[in-house]
Amino acid sequence: MPGLDEKLHDIYDEVLRRNAGETEFHQAVHEVLDSLGPVVAKHPHYADAAVIRRLCEPERQIIFRVPWADDQGNVQINRGFRVEFNSALGPYKGGLRFHPSVYLGIVKFLGFEQIFKNSLTGLPIGGGKGGSDFDPKGRSDAEVMRFCQAFMTELYRHIGEYTDVPAGDIGVGGREVGYLFGQYKRITNRYESGVLTGKGVTWGGSQVRTEATGYGTVYFTHEMLKARGESYDGKKVVVSGSGNVAIYAIEKVHQLGGTVVACSDSSGYIVDEAGIDLDLVKDIKENRRGRVAEYVEARGGGARFSASGSIWEVPCDIALPCATQNELNGTDAKALIASGCTIVAEGANMPCTPDAVRLFVEAGVGFAPGKAANAGGVATSALEMQQNASRDSWSFEHTEARLAEIMRGIHTRCLETADEYGSPGNYIAGANIGGFIQVADAMLALGLI
Ligand code: GLU
Repeated sequence: MPGLDEKLHDIYDEVLRRNAGETEFHQAVHEVLDSLGPVVAKHPHYADAAVIRRLCEPERQIIFRVPWADDQGNVQINRGFRVEFNSALGPYKGGLRFHPSVYLGIVKFLGFEQIFKNSLTGLPIGGGKGGSDFDPKGRSDAEVMRFCQAFMTELYRHIGEYTDVPAGDIGVGGREVGYLFGQYKRITNRYESGVLTGKGVTWGGSQVRTEATGYGTVYFTHEMLKARGESYDGKKVVVSGSGNVAIYAIEKVHQLGGTVVACSDSSGYIVDEAGIDLDLVKDIKENRRGRVAEYVEARGGGARFSASGSIWEVPCDIALPCATQNELNGTDAKALIASGCTIVAEGANMPCTPDAVRLFVEAGVGFAPGKAANAGGVATSALEMQQNASRDSWSFEHTEARLAEIMRGIHTRCLETADEYGSPGNYIAGANIGGFIQVADAMLALGLI
């Protein structure tokens, strides 16, 4: 593989051999190893002590059957996963994804990313991820509840506030976390608030957790703009997706004076040059659980819907991919660069293909990888854990101020680390190296375990 130094190349080969067919996991590992050349050159002990090899092998991988009955009384069987990847810095921490595309390779890529992301927050959380190939789309509330109860009936024995703390991701929001927490409480007979995050604010959740991933991504890009002497004022922004991350990214862009002109879902994308009406999108996605096409009917006038083509054909100054992995490819990157886009930040996990990332870097586009840009979600989860541990609950203002401070801290750490390792201004190198060093040092301190 070009670009990797010899020791890292061998490690990558071993990852390919031991994890056959898990292409998203390979991609996530390669992206990190690609940044570590200057680190092993400067500090060979990381390679000698097999820290990197150990990092690539999850501490524990759990796969289980999830049997449940649908509304017609038919038995449904799904597969559940929890990959407890690394606990050097704290309990495993990371979301659960319910989506038909979920298999071990997806969970491992997400868990691997989570290690470095969580480390970058500076908070005491390890990395993990889980989920199921269950598709919540079109399922009734009662079916979602029965599925969540069946899922937790196995998962509960593996998690705990000091062990492993799941949360949401695609397909898992407040409703699902509620059913999961209810079943955990019922089985264990413990009100152990800190076992899950993303809870409702009346039963142990944190203010700002719902908004945190989207808000955090925009705070991060705000820092990138400030570093260039610019601001969001008057900027045209495209946000892909219309789920939890996208909705609150749009909200914060509008608060900071930018205009989001397009968003999307798996059925297509909408363009509204006057600025996306967020209340309408929230109503369609959060209440009606509908499709973005409904936006055009309700809004009429200047808005349009496209079921084909790519949202990245819409010209913008700033692009925030907030949908899912590999949603933005080389062709999309070329279109964005040609339209004058100067900043791209990943609100989703690994939404840009390696080709797209390379093109952005070559064109001098400011590019922020997800493990830095979208770390606000998990950081606020860690704040929720803090509140649970101290049986406290903080105000919205206080929590949001903490989130903004954490995102500023990550931005600074990325730039300082990138400088130190010879890639000034490169957020990819900064995030990968900065995240790695803290975990690697902790692993060395804890011995060969
Ligand atoms: N799923 C989110 C992420 O990708 C958040 C996980 C959490 O809050 O634990 O970081």
